[in-house]
Amino acid sequence: MLGLLHNNPLFRPPAEAESLILQVDRGCPYNRCTFCGMYRDVKFQRRSAEEIRRLIAAEARQAPDTRRIFLADGDVMRRPFEELHGMLSELAARFPALARVNVYATGSAIAAKTDEQLQALRVLKLHTLYLGLESGDEEILRRVKKGETAACMIEAGRRAQTAGLRISLMILLGLGGVERTREHVAATADALNRMQPRLLAALRVVPVPGTELHAEVRAGSFRQVSERGAVQEVRDLLARLELTNTVFRANHASNVVPLEGRLPHDQARLVAELDRLLAAHRLDTDSPGSMPLWL
Ligand code: SF4
Repeated sequence: MLGLLHNNPLFRPPAEAESLILQVDRGCPYNRCTFCGMYRDVKFQRRSAEEIRRLIAAEARQAPDTRRIFLADGDVMRRPFEELHGMLSELAARFPALARVNVYATGSAIAAKTDEQLQALRVLKLHTLYLGLESGDEEILRRVKKGETAACMIEAGRRAQTAGLRISLMILLGLGGVERTREHVAATADALNRMQPRLLAALRVVPVPGTELHAEVRAGSFRQVSERGAVQEVRDLLARLELTNTVFRANHASNVVPLEGRLPHDQARLVAELDRLLAAHRLDTDSPGSMPLWL
């Protein structure tokens, strides 16, 4: 049996700070993205249905009034429909005040479910799927070994939202390096316009020690965009977006400047802010500047 909390740190999206975190899996079943250090040294394990039942019962005794639950770790949506259905049914039965259950997801894990299955999961309180698009550029996704195509992720995101689920999408500024910065912006904007995610988070890629990307940076085969280049990317991306109702955030510690707004309402303001910053010529044009240790 897996311990109650066995990864340290236990990863969850910032928006899940107030949620009860139930770790039904350990690690990521894929675990090969070159930029990702989250579960690098963690052997993937799944709790059995019986273990999950016991875990839910124990947590329900401790916090019976829980309204929000995040199911960790890396790609809980990958589990077969029947298992997700069983888990969500158990949660609904044990937590009478439960309003929403959120998970990390991948495009292929969503694509493996039918429209009817996605709707059935929504009825059982599945609410937000955190999906890492990273880039809309297929070549970049291939280079970083994402194991997913943009086309699959866009279609999966659209289907999930049609089924009533909410997509919280993550993109990684700088993921194409200097070499593909233009392609990254153009294809990512196009993907976002087609998917219309309700929530969008733009983070800057951080080469985390121990990852392949970090080794590529050290070897000189991946040239990171400069601090100014990262700001230019987010400015050009915002200028190309045609979103109808999206909350946009780029306020993670990796970002050069914190940005937040509703799109399209705040789009012109955000672009103007970034234009002023670029015009001031204070940004580092030679290096990425200071970065956090973790993505
Ligand atoms: S980015 Fe997501 S899918 Fe890729 S290795 Fe990390 S957790 Fe797994």
